[in-house]
Amino acid sequence: MATSEELHKRRVEAVARGVGSTIPAYVDRAGGGTITDVDGREWIDFAAGIAVTNVGNSAPRVVEAVRAQVERFTHTCFMVAPYESYVAVCEQLNALTPGGFEKRSALFNSGAEAVENAVKIARHATGRPAVVVFDHAYHGRTNLTMALTAKNMPYKHRFGPFAGEVYRVPMSYPLRDGGLDGATAAARSIEMIEKQVGAENVAALLIEPIQGEGGFVVPAQGFLPALREWATAAGVVFVADEIQTGFCRTGDWFACEHEGVEPDLITLAKGIAGGLPLAAVTGRADLMDAVHVGGLGGTYGGNPIACAAALASMETMRELDLAAAARRIGAVMVERLRVIAAGDPRVAEVRGRGAMLAMEIVVPGTLTPDPAATAAISAACHAAGLLTLTCGTYGNVLRFLPPLVISDDELGRGLDILAAAFG
Ligand SMILES: *Cc1c(COP(=O)(O)O)cnc(C)c1O
Repeated sequence: MATSEELHKRRVEAVARGVGSTIPAYVDRAGGGTITDVDGREWIDFAAGIAVTNVGNSAPRVVEAVRAQVERFTHTCFMVAPYESYVAVCEQLNALTPGGFEKRSALFNSGAEAVENAVKIARHATGRPAVVVFDHAYHGRTNLTMALTAKNMPYKHRFGPFAGEVYRVPMSYPLRDGGLDGATAAARSIEMIEKQVGAENVAALLIEPIQGEGGFVVPAQGFLPALREWATAAGVVFVADEIQTGFCRTGDWFACEHEGVEPDLITLAKGIAGGLPLAAVTGRADLMDAVHVGGLGGTYGGNPIACAAALASMETMRELDLAAAARRIGAVMVERLRVIAAGDPRVAEVRGRGAMLAMEIVVPGTLTPDPAATAAISAACHAAGLLTLTCGTYGNVLRFLPPLVISDDELGRGLDILAAAFG
C-alpha cells in the first residue's frame, strides 16, 4: 500500500489546491473513536469528520443497511420512481424535530443545499425577499450560502459577487459583547432588522442555535427564544440551521430543544446518516407545502443508500441513547478543559454543550485573539495522535467533536494529549 507521504505527493499533482486537509495523513480505516492512516498511525478522533460520524465510522447498523440497499437498488431518483426509505426518513425527521405541529420534509445532498432550499421555501411561502443572518454565521459555500456566511477568508474571498437580499445583524457572543443578556442582545438585533430591513420585507431569520465554523459561539440564554417570539409576531420564518448541532451532538436530539425553541423550518445534514451524504429541510406543513409540485428536488436528493444509512443512524442513536452519551462525554470533557483553562491564561473561555465543546485562545490578560497559538496547540495535538479542529472568525477557537460512541479510554487518552499540548 502507498504511504501517506507518497499519497500526498500524488494528491498535490491531482487535487485542486483549494481543497485543504487538516492532517496530511491518508486514512486506511476508522471506527469508534479512532482514525488509522495507511502507515498504521492512529489518531484519537475529536473531529468526527466535522460532526458527521456521531454514530461512529462504519457503525454496524449503518454498514448492514447500506450493504442491503446497494444490493437492492442504488438509484432511481425519487422524482422519477419513489421508494419507501425516503418517506421513512421524512416521517422520522417530522417526529423527531422540535414542534408538535404538522410537518413535512424534503431531502437533499449537502448542508448548503438544505439551507438554499429553506430560503427558497421561506421566500415562496411569504412572498418576501430578505434573509437575516448573524455575525460569525456559517451556512455553506454555494453562492447563496456564501452570502449567508460571515467570514471572508477562506470562504468568500474573491468568490463574489454574492446573492442579494441578505442582511447581517449582531450575534449574542457573551465573551465579546460585554456579557449582554439574551433579551438585550436580541433587542439589539431586532432593532437593526426593523430599522434597516423592515420586518415586512423579511422572509426568514436564519440562525445556528450554537454557531459552528464561526467559533462554537453559544448565545446568552434567552436570545433564541426572544428572536423566535419576534419572528412569530412579524410573520418571519424562523429557520434553525442545526446542520452541525443536530442528531444528539449537544446532548439533545437538536440544540433548539435546550431552550424549548420550536423553529418553523430546520436544516439538517452532517450527523444525519453516519457519513453518507444526506441533508434535509423539515418544518411546518403549511410552509413546506406552499411550494408548487416540481419546485423542490434534485437528482440525488434522498438517495436510497443515504436514506438507508440515515434510518440506521437514527436507530443507533435511539438504541445507544447517544444524546445521553453526548451529555456524559461533555461532562467528562468540560471538567478536564476547565483544569487546562485554570492553568493557562491563554484560554479565555471553555464553552459549548454536550459533545460540542471549544476553548477560545487569546493573548493572556486581553481578549485579543491568538490564532497562532491556537494553530500551534492544534498542531501539537496532531503530532501526538489527537485529531482536533480549529474554527472561529478569528481562527482562535479549538473545537472538539468526538464521535458519540468514543470509549472512555479513548476520550481520556485524547484529553491527556490535549493537556500535554498546552504544555
Ligand atoms: C457544515 C455546515 C453547513 C454546510 O454543510 P455542507 O454539507 O458542507 O454543505 C451549513 N451550516 C452549518 C451550521 C454547518 O455546520
